[in-house]
Amino acid sequence: MKKQKAKPKKIAGRSAKKPKAPSSPRKAKAPRAGSVIPKAAGTNPQRVHAILQKLDEAYPAVTCALEHHNAFQLLISTILSAQCTDERVNQVTKTLFVKYPSPKDFAYANPAELERDIRPTGFFRNKTKSIMGASKKIVQEFAGEVPRTMEELLMLPGVARKTANVVLGTAYGIAVGVVVDTHVTRLSNRLDLSRNTDPKKIEQDLMQVIPQNKWILFSHQLIWHGRKVCQARKPKCAECNLETLCYAKDKTV
Ligand code: SF4
Repeated sequence: MKKQKAKPKKIAGRSAKKPKAPSSPRKAKAPRAGSVIPKAAGTNPQRVHAILQKLDEAYPAVTCALEHHNAFQLLISTILSAQCTDERVNQVTKTLFVKYPSPKDFAYANPAELERDIRPTGFFRNKTKSIMGASKKIVQEFAGEVPRTMEELLMLPGVARKTANVVLGTAYGIAVGVVVDTHVTRLSNRLDLSRNTDPKKIEQDLMQVIPQNKWILFSHQLIWHGRKVCQARKPKCAECNLETLCYAKDKTV
C-alpha cells in the first residue's frame, strides 16, 4: 500500500514553518581573490626608519646561514633548505659538495644515489629532480655559471623568487627583491609592514617601504630576528629591541 505523505502539523493556529527560500548570498568575510588589502598602517617612513635602525643595532652584519663557497653551492643549499633547518642542510652539504664539486657532477649524477645523499633534508625525491634539472640547465644553457638575473634564475627547475633572491643578494650582491621566507612573512605581519599573507605580495609591499639598498641586509636581519627572538609560537618580546615599536596582537608583554 502506498504511504501517504505526512501533512505539516499546525501549531496554535499557525502552519508549520515552510522551508526557507534560498537567501541571497552572504557577503564573504575573507577578502576575495584578487582584492586589494589596504596598506599596512605601520609603514609610515619614520616608523620604518626606526625599525631599520633597531635591526641594524641588533644585527649589524648578519648574512645567510647556509654555508657555501660560490653561487652554485648557495643555490643547491637553498633548494635543500625547503622545509629543513639550515643546520641540517649545512651538515649534509659538508660532504655533498666534496662528492659533487661542480654543476656537471650534479647534472649527471645517479638520481637514486643523490636521493640517498640528500635524504636527511626531507622531500629528497623532489629536491633531487630540482637539483639535477637546475644543474643541467646551468651546464647546458649558462656555460656552467649560475645566471645573474631574476628572469634567468626563474627558468631553473625548482627555483622561485625566494631562492633567486637569496642567490642574487647573497652570492652576487644584486638587490632585485626581498627574500620572503616563513620568518620574513611572520615578522612583516607582526610589525605591520604588510597585511598580505602571500609571499609574492609581501615582497611587493616590502619593496615599497624598505629602501633598495637595505633589501639584502633587511631580509637576513628579519630571518635572524625570527629565529632568535620573534619566534612563531612564543615570541620573546621581553628580549626584543623592537618591542616599543611593535603592536602585534600576539605580543607576550
Ligand atoms: S615585540 Fe614580540 S612580536 Fe613584536 S617583533 Fe618583538 S618579539 Fe616579535
